[in-house]
Amino acid sequence: MRGEIIGVGTELLLGQIANTNAQYISDKLALEGVSIFYHQAVGDNQDRIKQVLSIAHLRSEIIVLTGGLGPTDDDLTRESVADFLNRKLELDANALRKLEQFFAGYGREMPSNNRKQVMLIEGGRFLENPRGTAPGQYVEADGRHYFLLPGPPTELRAMVTDQVIPIIRSIVGQQMTIRSRVLRLFGIGESAMELEISDILKNQANPTVAPLASEGEVTLRITAKAGSENEAYALIDPVEAQLRQRLGKYIYGIDDEILPVAVGKRLSARGQTVSLVESCTGGLLASMITDIPGSSGYFKQSWVTYDNEAKSAQLGVPKELLLTHGAVSEECARSMAEGARSRSGSDWAISITGIAGPGGATQEKPVGLVYIAVAGPDGTTAKEFRFRGDRQQIRIRAAKNALYSLVK
Ligand code: ATP
Ligand code: MG
Repeated sequence: MRGEIIGVGTELLLGQIANTNAQYISDKLALEGVSIFYHQAVGDNQDRIKQVLSIAHLRSEIIVLTGGLGPTDDDLTRESVADFLNRKLELDANALRKLEQFFAGYGREMPSNNRKQVMLIEGGRFLENPRGTAPGQYVEADGRHYFLLPGPPTELRAMVTDQVIPIIRSIVGQQMTIRSRVLRLFGIGESAMELEISDILKNQANPTVAPLASEGEVTLRITAKAGSENEAYALIDPVEAQLRQRLGKYIYGIDDEILPVAVGKRLSARGQTVSLVESCTGGLLASMITDIPGSSGYFKQSWVTYDNEAKSAQLGVPKELLLTHGAVSEECARSMAEGARSRSGSDWAISITGIAGPGGATQEKPVGLVYIAVAGPDGTTAKEFRFRGDRQQIRIRAAKNALYSLVK
């Protein structure tokens, strides 16, 4: 079954809200084996809503519309679908009674324009909305299944799981499911990775393999469609093994195991702790680590020593070292990490010092030059990086590389 989601609302087109409803529905329908091939977004305009319906009608069997079911004049989804299907809208006495009771429950009288919300498309049926005034609708026409759902996400989500999914299961019949596994890589760029696995990428059907890059990290998503969850993973497993054979040394985690989670897992498993000292990242690394619930089990403390004076006073970085090598140097990074390790009593200490820009650079020390040092039970290692990008990208890349130094 091919599915398509139509977000209705001018605010989507103006960039005032993100289309999280489409994201939510796609995620849920994939688990039911519906292939969502298209998302459309359209403003509150009847002609244009009918245009997107005529496109959806040509290529999808399951068409889900969200938004535009409210009581006001700019809520046009119901009217547009009825018009497109050449069907009448009929006032449903039963639904009207329920809506009046909904208002009575709040001690209010129902405004007359809410009557609009209980106009049912001929041949369709209502989908109850326990959290709001706008019921949804389901109507089948010409082999297409139309679902009309209200825009507010809390209303919509409950209706998708409680009402839309059961109907879709009955339509799809033999149940199919789509499952994905995400492999997380670090230390390799997207194009280098694609070259390593170009034959696998070319010859894929089920499962499919999709690379994605963001902020210095790359992921590979393996997606399979099958009759059951187990069958889907049975298709995914051998492809994962094949990818691990080629790229194993770069793969540090799967699915939700992002870098700070991977760090936490490894430290917890060994019963070890980490402390930090940051200069150019200004606490970003500490923030990434403490975003993870349970990080108090392995994260001890952190210094943000932006100023040279603070580096000496708080971590014991020798003043001569700062004079001869400067704060952005391998020597300073080592000294910061060692100072943090001995002062905190942690098993590990990581330091970051660098030039995030846009100012502060010299010929020898350009923007993006960053040193990361790791002091641990077996001594101290340090590494020089030359990151590209703007201030924020340089800081993110520095923090991620620092995390990765504990994952390797
Ligand atoms: P209402 O009865 O509240 O008017 P409605 O069905 O008419 O409901 P809209 O008016 O289109 O829905 O949207 C109501 C609110 O729902 C929007 O202001 C927005 O906050 C949220 N919303 C609408 N569409 C989406 C979407 N696609 N993704 C996320 N949020 C959405
Ligand atoms: Mg509305």
